[in-house]
Amino acid sequence: RKPETMTDTTTAAPVAEAPAAKAPITRLWAYARPHLRLLLIGGALSFAGGLVGLVQPLIAMDVIDTLSNDESLTRPLLYLTAVVIVGGALAALGPYLMQIAGQDVVLTVRRQLIGRLVRLQVAEVDRLKPGDLVSRLTSDTNLLRTVASTTVIGGVTDAFMILGGIALMAWLDLALFGTTMAMVVMVTVMMLFIMPRIQNATVDSQKALGDMGSLLERIFSAFRTVKASGAEDHEISRLDAAATTARDKGVKASFWEALAGVAAFMPVNIAFLMVLGVGGARVASGAMDVGTLIGFLLLLFYLMGPISGLVASLSQLQTGLAAIHRVEEVANLDSEEPVEAERMTDRDGPAQVAFADVTFRYGDDLPFVHHGVTFASSGRGLTALVGPSGAGKTTVFSLIERFYPATTGSVTVDGVDVADWPLEELRGLIGYVEQDAPVLDGSLRENLVMAAPDAGDGDIDEVVKVARLTELVDKLPDGLDSRIGYRGTTLSGGERQRVAIARALLRKPRLLLLDEATSQLDAANEAALKQVMLDAAERTNVLVVAHRLSTVTSADQIVVFDTGVVRAVGTHAELVENDELYRGLAASQLLTAA
Ligand code: ADP
Ligand code: MG
Repeated sequence: RKPETMTDTTTAAPVAEAPAAKAPITRLWAYARPHLRLLLIGGALSFAGGLVGLVQPLIAMDVIDTLSNDESLTRPLLYLTAVVIVGGALAALGPYLMQIAGQDVVLTVRRQLIGRLVRLQVAEVDRLKPGDLVSRLTSDTNLLRTVASTTVIGGVTDAFMILGGIALMAWLDLALFGTTMAMVVMVTVMMLFIMPRIQNATVDSQKALGDMGSLLERIFSAFRTVKASGAEDHEISRLDAAATTARDKGVKASFWEALAGVAAFMPVNIAFLMVLGVGGARVASGAMDVGTLIGFLLLLFYLMGPISGLVASLSQLQTGLAAIHRVEEVANLDSEEPVEAERMTDRDGPAQVAFADVTFRYGDDLPFVHHGVTFASSGRGLTALVGPSGAGKTTVFSLIERFYPATTGSVTVDGVDVADWPLEELRGLIGYVEQDAPVLDGSLRENLVMAAPDAGDGDIDEVVKVARLTELVDKLPDGLDSRIGYRGTTLSGGERQRVAIARALLRKPRLLLLDEATSQLDAANEAALKQVMLDAAERTNVLVVAHRLSTVTSADQIVVFDTGVVRAVGTHAELVENDELYRGLAASQLLTAA
């Protein structure tokens, strides 16, 4: 067989190429660049629409000339009609095209973000708030839409309009022009003060929205507990506080936005009055004709649109930069980036696992969980990991799956350190059943095939049988296609666990890792589970974190954990004979559970 190319994902390498070091405005440019053509076409059309509008005051001057010369109005009115229609059409089409580009930008950013989020390292997700990550994908990216489309181009267009208008003013009358410019300088200074404040308030507001999402996620992930604890009011008040913060910060941003509006309009209005005064005097003295004054005033009037547009664009830009800041923070998290890698092996049959003097801790500032763990398991059969809660049994599985790297020592699969396996291939040979909530919202079928998209109906039927799920499937209204609720809430604990086992088996794993739920199962469920494990152990290497005597007594090998070390290995009979801790466990925990 030709070696297939697999994608490897390196857990150890952090992803971030320090994008945070780049200014958000640079990131905005990077986002927008792939969609530049559509943006520019839309922008050009909008700009053309604006230019057409700029002609209106000139036509108005023409109308006044025509009237004072007693000529026919037909021609200027025709011009005016044409200008209104063409200008209107351009003004609609341009922004529409830019909005399309804006949606495309959002899609691009969301795709990147989705890739990042789903590939995040387990360690990152363990310490983050999922709800906040959700709000970055949904709400923050949405803030980018306008800013990546109409805002920048619209701002640039407005700036050009204003420059064009100013040039026209200078051409019409220098004295009036000077009066106006003094006001423009005033506006600029005030904007420089106001804009960063809009951005800060927006970041705070989005942060509060993220908190709200986190709190909601927290509630729904333990909904029954929240209800049973009568904690609704407590949770509601926390959500309410986040919503209030979002409102307050939003109001704060609006305050600065409003101030920016005033800061733009007041000077323009003052300029209007001053031009009227200065211009009136010049007309009276005969230094200027009425047409020029009216043209100048109309220009000023006309420029109010672009000026308020520019100010709004600058405000929106601040909002967008705030969003980019939050989106880019996700890019700084460690994820498992896909890397092309050769497939290592075509081997079939049970995989071997070995721990050699493994030490491990979950963080540099946390105590060690494994203090030198050594054990091995190879060939078909059942290896049970037992020991008190917190001894580090679940952690063993996390290290095999390379959710975390061992601190020292080696974890090998088929004699190769897990760090040297292409990650996709490594996880591809393992079937893993988590200790808790191993079922996702969706149909039963979706829950099974997520682990093996190529599985046929025959394969599914077989694992359903092996996992003793036939009865459940028959009972459900739509069989395999029935929805089983958020975290599988419509199933019993035993059923959930067997669904997870069926999913793991559908991968045809060479190694099955099974973290038994500590919750007690009824006798029928327990017998079924035991049979499923024994069936699987016929075909492959099964490691099970065992809490039940029936599981342990069936095991070919038992590994006894105690606070981060393996204290004994043997069969049930040997350990009852030789190991005090195991004897205790068997007598109390295991026996009573049986
Ligand atoms: P067991 O499965 O034997 O009950 P675990 O392997 O789950 O034990 O946990 C061993 C120890 O590691 C416990 O003290 C637990 O508090 C700690 N621990 C587990 N997961 C994490 C984590 N993600 N971050 C920090 N500490 C953890
Ligand atoms: Mg555990």
